[in-house]
Amino acid sequence: MKVYFIGAGPGDPGLVTLKAKQAIEEADVIIYAGSLVNPELLRWAKAGAAVHNSAGMTFEQVTGVIARAYAEGKTVARLHTGDITLYSAIQEQIGWCVENSVPYQVIPGVSSYSAACATLGQELTLPGISQTVVLTRIGGRTDGPEGLELRALAGTKATLVLFLSAQHIDRVVAELSEACGPDMPVAVVQKASWPEEKVITGTLRDIADKVKQAGMDKTAIIIIGEVLNKRGERSRLYDKSFGHAFRSAG
Ligand code: SAH
Repeated sequence: MKVYFIGAGPGDPGLVTLKAKQAIEEADVIIYAGSLVNPELLRWAKAGAAVHNSAGMTFEQVTGVIARAYAEGKTVARLHTGDITLYSAIQEQIGWCVENSVPYQVIPGVSSYSAACATLGQELTLPGISQTVVLTRIGGRTDGPEGLELRALAGTKATLVLFLSAQHIDRVVAELSEACGPDMPVAVVQKASWPEEKVITGTLRDIADKVKQAGMDKTAIIIIGEVLNKRGERSRLYDKSFGHAFRSAG
């Protein structure tokens, strides 16, 4: 018996790891975050597997299902959207497993920001432009520590990737405009890798109107940074004078 905490990817079933697929196939009990995990993944479940949508469940109900499965020697697959390292609320579930001596394994996934960048054909680290990426969100009900608000991060020149923020696009623009200036490019990708995916590009000057017009108020990634101008220097990796472990400088 084991609990698999699975990063179930951004939506497209083709972006699920082989390990995740195997765990879904093996599981006797599946608990999936119905608001964002693609229900198509459930077709890999074996016949007779019990399936729970955690969207309407409390933490205690989720751990109750896991506890019962454990008592019965059953394997559980707990599916979270994207990768589990970001805004997935698995830490308290892992904590519960540790406290209750329930064995678990974490399977990483493709984050929605990777899928959004794949759609855009966009690298987030371009030589001479930015070598740093900040994965964050606008402050809301869940606040981060002081000093790491968007306004402060805006001055760092790092590429910013915002989760959970599209419905607050006016506030995002207000917090960034002073440090970044109105011409800073912005891209927004909604439901990356799903058939209904939408992409909007613009600048801090016009992005709020565009996002609202397109009705992109949820399940979207916002990327802000000079890298979106795609005018970085050539990567040094392919520079003739830049030898590395697999190739000597020529
Ligand atoms: N762990 C997830 C993030 C969960 S928080 C991951 O790694 O992607 C939920 C937020 O993720 C949403 O508000 C949205 O910002 C983003 N998100 C999830 N799926 C998405 C998708 N397919 N396209 C764009 N954004 C998505």
